[in-house]
Amino acid sequence: MPKGKKTCEKCGHECGPRAYMCPECQHPFMFAVQSKERKTTRMIRKFDWKELQKGDRIKVTGGSYYISDDGEYIPMGCRGKFTVIGLDKNGIIAYGTKEGGFSHIWMAKDKLSKDTKIHRTAHRIVKIVPKIKVNKNKSQNKKELSYS
Ligand SMILES: [Zn+2]
Repeated sequence: MPKGKKTCEKCGHECGPRAYMCPECQHPFMFAVQSKERKTTRMIRKFDWKELQKGDRIKVTGGSYYISDDGEYIPMGCRGKFTVIGLDKNGIIAYGTKEGGFSHIWMAKDKLSKDTKIHRTAHRIVKIVPKIKVNKNKSQNKKELSYS
């Protein structure tokens, strides 16, 4: 199948990627509301960041912030998706998947830098894991349960 095309599951007709109905047999297609990534991955919110390993993918929000003289909150933390390179005692060394570049993602205790007046506070991170693997394990577990 050429990339970007989909095949009608009913008659096998090749349709454009955005077709919502088969032009050949009028068979309706499932609407692709979810992005490919949301379909193939899932987010884990509760985990210990110290257990992250090289190559793990994470999504990062929160983190350091700066309070201006007017009392305005200015976020300074790392944002977006990262691939874990390694850990140190204060956080995660990671490579930005979209923007690129290495970042140190602060995960330790809150700390105010006297020079920059930046408040360092732990980032919120979610781990991005492939969905397919997990689903397989789940169904296997179910089978085992029903047999016992
Ligand atoms: Zn069709």
